[in-house]
Amino acid sequence: MTTRIALVSLAAVFLVGTTATAQQPPAGGSGGFRGSATIQPGESCPPGTTEIRPLNCMAPQGPIPSIVDYRPRSTLVVPEHKVPRAKYPVIDFHGHPGGNLSSLENLERMGRELDSLNVGMMIAADNMSGERLVRAMDVIRSSPKMKDRVRVLAGINFQNVGPGWAERAVAQLEADVAAGAVGVGEISKGFGLNTRRADGTRLRLDDPALDPIWEACARLQLPVFIHTGDPPEFWNPIDFNNERWLELALFPNRSYAGDNNPSFEQLVTERDNLFRKHRKTTFVTAHLGWHANDLGRLAKLMTELPNLHAEVGAVLYDIGRQPRAARDFFIKFQDRILFGKDSYQPGEYPYYWRVFETADDYFDYYRDYHAFWKLYGIDLPDDVLKKVYYQNALRILPKVSKAGWPQ
Ligand SMILES: [Zn+2]
Repeated sequence: MTTRIALVSLAAVFLVGTTATAQQPPAGGSGGFRGSATIQPGESCPPGTTEIRPLNCMAPQGPIPSIVDYRPRSTLVVPEHKVPRAKYPVIDFHGHPGGNLSSLENLERMGRELDSLNVGMMIAADNMSGERLVRAMDVIRSSPKMKDRVRVLAGINFQNVGPGWAERAVAQLEADVAAGAVGVGEISKGFGLNTRRADGTRLRLDDPALDPIWEACARLQLPVFIHTGDPPEFWNPIDFNNERWLELALFPNRSYAGDNNPSFEQLVTERDNLFRKHRKTTFVTAHLGWHANDLGRLAKLMTELPNLHAEVGAVLYDIGRQPRAARDFFIKFQDRILFGKDSYQPGEYPYYWRVFETADDYFDYYRDYHAFWKLYGIDLPDDVLKKVYYQNALRILPKVSKAGWPQ
């Protein structure tokens, strides 16, 4: 009786200022009177209540867990196919090996981890240049086991773009290629967002002062791996309708809402202008261009731009929640999708293998704050898997030897 009274008064508090009124639940209900409300068509139920019958809302009996404490166990019983090791060898196009390239010992330990996952090669997308790139290549070449299993992308320094910048940047890029770089990237999300020109203005992604560097990438046969923006929800208010509320509440500095930042649309428009203007340059948009939640949009862009490729790192939550649409997309663009993992966590790769290789239903994802939902396998055909896992990367990386990779 005490609980019931408490809930009624709780509901009364919620209802202040709304058009809903507390009243008896609809006839036929067996739960007895609890906090409840009626609403008009088009209205949402008041906070703390759930629509139990059309236009009738009710508050659950307490205690009510907070969203971070609600961890329901799935009772679904269906076949499970864990995939600890990829079916075909893999090139991780979006590697961040970090300290694993700092010593022979670390490199060879990473090699053993990659072996267990069937990752045959990591492309280090750590924006290395100059001395740092030379040192990393020295470590890689010193290992008989690993010398053909890690390749490095070069970084471009976008600070202080202005007179003389392009000549210096192209010369540095040529030196980095001579030192062993096989591509460019990962150009960070700061490019376009907050990188400044020498005159203090924001450096736009499509700034014509950068044209010589993109032309050099085409001439030197270097694919350009570029991360632009972030999930579109990061630009929206951190409210309870935001699909990324938990991530934004854990990491409020990831929010771009209410700041003087360029909008998501501004950034991707500039990015697409860049891709469009330099058709001879091969671009790889990281994280499926942050369009994994709208594959139709990405499909339109990739149809328009044959020089555009897309990498799948850190957006598995979107691929695995639309298994039919994602499978169609992967099959349609099978020649231009690349596997990449991003953050190096060996235990997380098998989730990708399971999504790509199986038709499993409703299984856990590895990072709860990305997604409060489960994943489904997209069951890619073998020839598509091989392209996504290694063949596409080998094709766009002409400086990487094809020796040793299966046909
Ligand atoms: Zn990255």
